[in-house]
Amino acid sequence: MRKLERRAVICLLLSVFLLLGLAVFCFRFVTEGDEWASFPANKHLFADGNLGCGSIYDADGELLLRNTADGAVYAEDSGIRRATLHVVGDAAGNIATGAETKFAGKLTGYNFINGTYSRGGDGRRLYLTVDADVCETAYNALDGRKGCVGVYNYKTGEVICDVSSPSYDPNDPITAEKAEDGGYYINRLLSATFVPGSIFKTVTAAAVIDHLDYEGWTYHCDGSARIGDSNVTCVSAHGDVTFEDALCQSCNGAFAALTLELGAETMAGYVDKLGFTKSYSINGIRTAKGRFVFSETNEAALGWSGAGQSEDMLNPCSMMIYMGAVANHGRVVVPQLVSAVKSDGGFPLSVYIPRWRLRLVSADTASVLREMLRNNVVNNYGEGNFPGLSLCAKSGTAEVGDGTSHAWFTGFLDDEEHPYAFIVLVENGGGGAKVAGPVANRVLQAVIENE
Ligand SMILES: [Zn+2]
Repeated sequence: MRKLERRAVICLLLSVFLLLGLAVFCFRFVTEGDEWASFPANKHLFADGNLGCGSIYDADGELLLRNTADGAVYAEDSGIRRATLHVVGDAAGNIATGAETKFAGKLTGYNFINGTYSRGGDGRRLYLTVDADVCETAYNALDGRKGCVGVYNYKTGEVICDVSSPSYDPNDPITAEKAEDGGYYINRLLSATFVPGSIFKTVTAAAVIDHLDYEGWTYHCDGSARIGDSNVTCVSAHGDVTFEDALCQSCNGAFAALTLELGAETMAGYVDKLGFTKSYSINGIRTAKGRFVFSETNEAALGWSGAGQSEDMLNPCSMMIYMGAVANHGRVVVPQLVSAVKSDGGFPLSVYIPRWRLRLVSADTASVLREMLRNNVVNNYGEGNFPGLSLCAKSGTAEVGDGTSHAWFTGFLDDEEHPYAFIVLVENGGGGAKVAGPVANRVLQAVIENE
């Protein structure tokens, strides 16, 4: 009898496992089926690495890639081909996060009831949110330097610009060796992390606003502050600064002092809370997670990390999203790259729906940060350098250890008509405001012109 009972329990357990497994399979079949079907090893869809059907357009309907039975046909203009390579992808699948690879299921018309259309069928028209002309302006503004430019609408989530450099013309592919050495296949906006330098002070500032009594707070900067057993230095002596001045002048000493007041635990909590250690899903494309170390034992290291140096590593897209949230009263609208899917005859098969997420900061904190970022432009970067833009921004000059610096510029337009957040990185480019600032201006002017 006991033997029977034991067998009955084992059978019951086995059937529970079976049902659980079936439930997991059904869920994944519905949510991930298009990725399984569009896996390049699926000979039903791919022959000689060729998708065979489907086409990719920008938001204005400019053709960026058309799959034919004889291979992919890219945009006519070579500048557009280079500028949009990382967002569009390539037929060879080298750009792993490109639309051609990531959205192959959408291009072939996959759905989980009917599966995929046969190879060489009509396929679908995939419209991206990006503006190819803006991407070309951004790519040209980077002028051959490594880096990335991202712009998105913080009210709808539509990504207008997603450019990574170096790039190449997919009609004239480079060797695998050259690609690997130069990091050509990586989309730096989405898939890489970099030392943030002073743009990270916007993160520390949010923690200060929430946790410290910053009104009336002042700091005296001699250009070098002794913390623990080393010095935290500024480019020059800033004298007496308020919290607002400290961000505007980007005073490392002041921010190191504020970071020590906040403590390592609070800082670690803020990089999590503000989304810098998480991976965002942009239509299923996962962004790289940032990495931050806030030392409990080394005060100088802790001070530097609050100023964006030390061991901090940040994903550019996560900063663009944070800036969007600050602009949007603290709430995030997640960036998206797919605007619409249409049948080959132009019949709409999807609608664009903004994806709202929980807030990153309170509306009050967002409001204080917005004022401070606006003050940076008015009293430091110069409004005349950004004509017609209600710009709120922070620059960063991040020392990378080889004597050079990454130039950063990030922020948003405080403008209901033009609700755009942005990030510019010029690797080893030099001074943030001087080098990355003009790139941001050129791109934002193009965004508004091309609306
Ligand atoms: Zn200073």
